[in-house]
Amino acid sequence: DQSERLQKAMARLGVASRRHAEILISQGLVKVNGQTVTQPGFKVTPEDVIEVNAKTYSSGPSEDLVYVMLYKPAGVITSVTDPHQRKTVIDLLGQNIKERVYPVGRLDYDTSGLLLLTNDGELTFRLTHPSFGVEKVYRASVAGNISDQAIRTLESGVHLEDGMTSPAKIKKLSRYKSGNQTEIELAIHEGKNRQVRRMLEQVGYPVFRLRRICFGPLQLDPKMTAGEYRLLTTSEVNALK
Ligand code: URA
Repeated sequence: DQSERLQKAMARLGVASRRHAEILISQGLVKVNGQTVTQPGFKVTPEDVIEVNAKTYSSGPSEDLVYVMLYKPAGVITSVTDPHQRKTVIDLLGQNIKERVYPVGRLDYDTSGLLLLTNDGELTFRLTHPSFGVEKVYRASVAGNISDQAIRTLESGVHLEDGMTSPAKIKKLSRYKSGNQTEIELAIHEGKNRQVRRMLEQVGYPVFRLRRICFGPLQLDPKMTAGEYRLLTTSEVNALK
């Protein structure tokens, strides 16, 4: 029996997470073989054609799930397309990745580091939903010698205009030398817009370089340089699931 529940097929096809698929179905936005289906447990087979918001997906043998680690360079936008024709993270993948993958979360235009891309809608949902609080680790270079007071504030929570940040774990990596900078490592579980930059600005140390080195259990491969990408290993994929 190759039939499966519609929302499961949608998640497998990368249309949406299972939960989001259920919402789309209940809102009458999903058709199977041209007929609107609002019944949540509706079964589909590999011969059925699923249509979501006027986009058609074959529910037959789907694309393989692919998981890509990209070392995003600064100066590239985390998006599939850009209205201003700036280079996107998808442009960096070139022709080698045939499947249609999407970034999991985002890094700012100026931020470099680990970005995961995949066509696994279910995993994307889990890794980006705030309730799962996936840990991200960043290395930030700031001007001057960051004070212990500032570090304590970052650790206990910074008051930003859209609310308090949750406690961050901070490591000071480099000792200050005259005219030099300090590099610190921050581990956070949230993803407010430009959060790390705003946290450091708020405590008086604007960031001039920001790089993500961990995303959940994944670590930026030390053999990779900015702009490079590779498929995740099986053990990396298993660690995410
Ligand atoms: N925090 C930032 O400020 N920028 C990012 O890209 C990620 C986290």
